[in-house]
Amino acid sequence: MGSKVDAKTYPGNIINNQFVPTAKTRHSIDPATDEPLYEVPVATKEDLDAAVKHARTAFKTWSQTPFEERAKLLLAFADAIEANREDLERLQTMEQGKPLQLAQLEFTMTVQWLRAFATMQIKDEVLEDTEERTIYQTYTPIGVCGGIVPWNWPVLLGVGKIGPALITGNVFIMKPSPFTPYCDLKLGELGMSIFPPGVFQVLSGNDDLGPWMTSHPDIDMISFTGSIATGKRVAASCANTLKRYVLELGGNDAAIVCEDVDMDKCLPKITTLAFLNSGQICMLAKRIYVHEAIYERFRDAMVAFTRENIKTGNGLVEKDVVVGPVQNKMQFELVKDMYAQIEQQGWKCALEGRVRHEEKGYFIEPAIIDNPPEDSRIVVEEPFGPIVPLLKWSDDDNVLERANALRTGLGASVWSKDLERAERMARRLSAGSVWVNSHFDVAPHVPFGGHKESGIGMEWGVEGLKQYCLTKSLWVWKRTFD
Ligand code: NAD
Repeated sequence: MGSKVDAKTYPGNIINNQFVPTAKTRHSIDPATDEPLYEVPVATKEDLDAAVKHARTAFKTWSQTPFEERAKLLLAFADAIEANREDLERLQTMEQGKPLQLAQLEFTMTVQWLRAFATMQIKDEVLEDTEERTIYQTYTPIGVCGGIVPWNWPVLLGVGKIGPALITGNVFIMKPSPFTPYCDLKLGELGMSIFPPGVFQVLSGNDDLGPWMTSHPDIDMISFTGSIATGKRVAASCANTLKRYVLELGGNDAAIVCEDVDMDKCLPKITTLAFLNSGQICMLAKRIYVHEAIYERFRDAMVAFTRENIKTGNGLVEKDVVVGPVQNKMQFELVKDMYAQIEQQGWKCALEGRVRHEEKGYFIEPAIIDNPPEDSRIVVEEPFGPIVPLLKWSDDDNVLERANALRTGLGASVWSKDLERAERMARRLSAGSVWVNSHFDVAPHVPFGGHKESGIGMEWGVEGLKQYCLTKSLWVWKRTFD
């Protein structure tokens, strides 16, 4: 448990508590420097088959292991991550690009989430209890679960699946994003000395590994976090074997700012929550609707705050960075394309933004677009980069309609001093998480997920844990036919 991982070496995939090397290896890059990182395994279909076979065997015992024992091992896992967090935080910044402080926050949350999951027991519900019979609603683990993880929060979003799966008695195979395999492989390595063989395995692979998992006849459930387009492919593939699935997909959150806000207090928070992690978070303020009575003042103050406080740079070596590099070349090209649209579409910039072509990494400085048309790309598409539109509004009903108009529904927020009005508006927003005077709050006991195309099912909280269970109605008649 006190063992230290070496962030530089990746001897193999973690299968049945062994390092299993692969014939082929690959590496990802540090997006701040474009330099190659370490070689990691590339799983074959046979590796996946072996992991699934071991998982199936492990499930027999793990599903019958008492809750208290499973909780104890989850807590030991949290301790092992904590003991290694300093090295892992630096590794996280190197592979993901997020500033070190944000990586530290991700690890703080990761450990806190695991410890919270270790207290969450899904108990039977008694639906009827009479002299004649007792009827229970019980929850049994599904079996072999596969977790497919994106590159923006690889550790928290990974552990946000591992914890709920294991505590409910399932076994789990995790597939990191090929862009960010490093910390997730280290999670598997730490798990080797804690969990029984086959309970928690990690496979790093290429683009074909995800589809192999979703189509595998012996994987019972997939928990997927990623883009909407891939989520649809996952659902279609799972349909062939009628696998259960949970999909946590993209968002394009509206933040509605009313005319009565205390601007000095809320503007720094809203602005930071537009640019955090370079805009590469599923639930950020991605469309900021500002009441017309304060629009110009808000816009100018947001530009000033961004210039002064939202620093772009390499968060491993520079202090106070908010906007690190965009995580990968593909995403860099997508965001660059969005910036190219500014001129083509004639959008007005309140803040110009800038692609730093002169540097090696994928750095883009924040841009704020001033009241673009409602149907423009910057409003209707999730940019997943440090660029955000401000939009003017004047009527409550109308702004709610605009906020709800898209096919996404992950998060949304209303900012006002009038809490009754704000809550009334919040209740009319169609999103899985809605905040009054905040955005992006998450907690391990609070379910989190999307409406409409932002997802199916929820993660975290009791609701999220139940996604890893099959509901069973158990009828016990108190007659023995003697
Ligand atoms: P992505 O969809 O490209 O990839 C996600 C994962 O799916 C990766 O591990 C990838 O290797 C794998 N994958 C790719 N094709 C697959 C296939 N056909 N079958 C199975 N797996 C496949 O997403 P990304 O670019 O890594 O992440 C960014 C997106 O994720 C954004 O849209 C963001 O909003 C969303 N996201 C959502 C949440 C949420 O909880 N709702 C959280 C973080 C990110």
